[in-house]
Amino acid sequence: MPEHIWTLAIHGGAGGMARGKLSVEQDAGARAGLTQSLEAGSAILARGGNALDAVAAAVMELEDDPHFNAGRGAVFTYKGINELDASVMDGKTRDAGAVTGARYTKNPVLLARAVMEHSPHVMLSRDGADAFSREQGLEQVEPNYFATPERWRQLEELKANKLDYYDIDMKYGTVGAVAVDQHGNVAAATSSGGLTGKRWGRIGDSPIIGAGNYADNRACAVSATGAGEFFIRLGVAHEISARMRMLGEDAKLAADHVINELGQLGGTGGVIVTAPDGTSTFSFNTPGMYRGRATSDGEKYVAIYGDE
Ligand code: ASP
Repeated sequence: MPEHIWTLAIHGGAGGMARGKLSVEQDAGARAGLTQSLEAGSAILARGGNALDAVAAAVMELEDDPHFNAGRGAVFTYKGINELDASVMDGKTRDAGAVTGARYTKNPVLLARAVMEHSPHVMLSRDGADAFSREQGLEQVEPNYFATPERWRQLEELKANKLDYYDIDMKYGTVGAVAVDQHGNVAAATSSGGLTGKRWGRIGDSPIIGAGNYADNRACAVSATGAGEFFIRLGVAHEISARMRMLGEDAKLAADHVINELGQLGGTGGVIVTAPDGTSTFSFNTPGMYRGRATSDGEKYVAIYGDE
């Protein structure tokens, strides 16, 4: 690979965002958030920093932004609390870390990274994840930090109309980032509040390595968003990586194939993928996906609707 090539791709969730369905504020606010996330991640890649730092920085911005279902602005469980999921993977070493049901860490992506770097484990859950976070000295917040009036309204609407978990208006808002750095290393990060009204300790795909997140320098980095149960059943992120590695497919072919298969099972959502050669792709079967890309060629792309 020629030197100095880097690529960062991000998403803020896939779903029923067709033109005319978002308010002017939602549209502009989401675009501003995506732009800020791209800036944070690409500043690191442009100065020769590593992919893992870039995806973590990009995801932190989206976690801090209440427009997205991760960190502040996460959806509520049926009991009316926020339980946060996150994962990271380093494509160079295939080290990975994840948390599910975390409640007090301001940036769950940093907790997932701490699990990867400072514990012998890959995945920690609930009280244990919270205790590990405190031991690691990560920034803690009161649980109401994550709560927003709009997410509360969505929970009330779900309960009043006895809707299914597959979210109000089918708007998944999970966030993620994938990157390839100037050294040809890939990394992926995903962070989510899960689905509105989730119960019984339900865990989605976002914190599951191989389902909602995967990175392998021999193939690609993937972050997913959508109806998590389908992504778990297909092992979507690993499946895309495996197709590229073993069948020699490029990112677009592999991602489109797996999202097509997901659709055949009745699943909705999307993925972002970057490969070590700097190529990247978005693939989704919903009307829209909050997404963006920045590259060493100077590309700065932010989009929401399927036709952009
Ligand atoms: N994939 C997430 C989950 O199932 C939801 C989302 O993408 O917003 O938990």
